[in-house]
Amino acid sequence: MKLKFLGAAGTVTGSKYLLETAHKRILIDCGLFQGLKALRLLNWEKPPVDPETIDAILLTHGHLDHVGYLPRLVKLGFKGKIYGTRPTLEIAGIILKDSAEIQEEEAERANREGYSKHKPAKPLYDLDDAKATIRLFKGVEAEEELELDRGLKANFFYNGHILGSCFIEIKTPQKTLVFSGDIGREEDYLLYPPKKPKQADLMLIETTYGGRKHLDEASVFPELERIVKETYEKKGSVFIASFAVERAQLLMYVLWQLYKQGKIPKLPMVLDSPMGASVVRLFKEAHAWHKLSDEECKEMCGLFHIVSSYKETLQIRENPTPRIVIAGAGMLTGGRILNYLEERGPNEADSLVLAGYQAEGTRGRDLLHGAKELKIYGRMIPINMRLEQLEGLSAHADQEGLLSWLDDLTDAPEHLYLVHGEPSQSEAFQEKLKSLKGWNSKIPSLGEEVDV
Ligand SMILES: [Zn+2]
Repeated sequence: MKLKFLGAAGTVTGSKYLLETAHKRILIDCGLFQGLKALRLLNWEKPPVDPETIDAILLTHGHLDHVGYLPRLVKLGFKGKIYGTRPTLEIAGIILKDSAEIQEEEAERANREGYSKHKPAKPLYDLDDAKATIRLFKGVEAEEELELDRGLKANFFYNGHILGSCFIEIKTPQKTLVFSGDIGREEDYLLYPPKKPKQADLMLIETTYGGRKHLDEASVFPELERIVKETYEKKGSVFIASFAVERAQLLMYVLWQLYKQGKIPKLPMVLDSPMGASVVRLFKEAHAWHKLSDEECKEMCGLFHIVSSYKETLQIRENPTPRIVIAGAGMLTGGRILNYLEERGPNEADSLVLAGYQAEGTRGRDLLHGAKELKIYGRMIPINMRLEQLEGLSAHADQEGLLSWLDDLTDAPEHLYLVHGEPSQSEAFQEKLKSLKGWNSKIPSLGEEVDV
């Protein structure tokens, strides 16, 4: 067998690993490269393997950097099945349609403003490609063996990163291979702790935070309480920029708890994120995958007004009544949060909360670096709102969490690869593995091929 690292090697995005047996080609995850331009351009390159010759794709979870390349692969001829747990496929469907719309809008804008080298500029894929991809989806149950070929079996195990997320174990008569996917935290308000692999001859483990220690998730409670109270005293509103999947629901949970404990005043609360609202619906259906009971789900969701139309967004942003609004996108790269900033940015009484990591080149990062105005819809808008950053909400395990995920392995995997991390994070984890457990590991490079 051979394994090729086609993405998330030396970087965090573009997760794609190709396993070739004597008879089958199986791709594990099929993510989009994101962030720096040099990475994004990789999405446009000819795939290193003919998509028509790939037999099946297995998905660890529904995030864009794990599924966002699928429609491109389908457009280029992939016809096999795409396997994932049901919540994973639901989330992937929501994310792919949104991604297709963004791709189409960007191509349109490039044509309108004439800044593309390609004339006319074309999207990487469109909504029809996304829909064709979704038709290939095939749901699997966790911990139920899936036969891919004679003697080639896959099994999905809960790993607590987002709804539906799993690590994947692939077994041949000789070897056990483990693909960690993104590993969640042991202590989380919404998700159960990750299950741990028991044996692996070859393992790929993510190292997003391989060198870091997270703040406790509980630290978010007093922080958010303080921000809401201080803003309310000035009769302002709190606008929270949040990722739509998992983060928005976790923020809803924290606000609901603070409200229930009487720690924050009774303010109107709003979720303004079409994607976030779809994931909330999924929470109501996929009970086996999270900790909230049906009752709790209802009570929490009942506290929030879910915005259904853009017209409503415009009404809310003009209304001076203090409220709390959760809106996408998490790094201010687009979405409804920009509509709010356009109107409320100059207002000193309001607060803007960044509820997650802010990547280089995003408006969120610019603000953190001291920018006092932002370009929104072609105009410079002064941002006088009070800026706050919430830490402690990561959906990834930190160094300690990653180490503990390896606890149940009796022996070191013969081949251990550190993936899905910036070099500094992967290297820090590599050193820790060596010093603490005496284990050797490798950090593969993009395009590297190894014999298994
Ligand atoms: Zn993820």
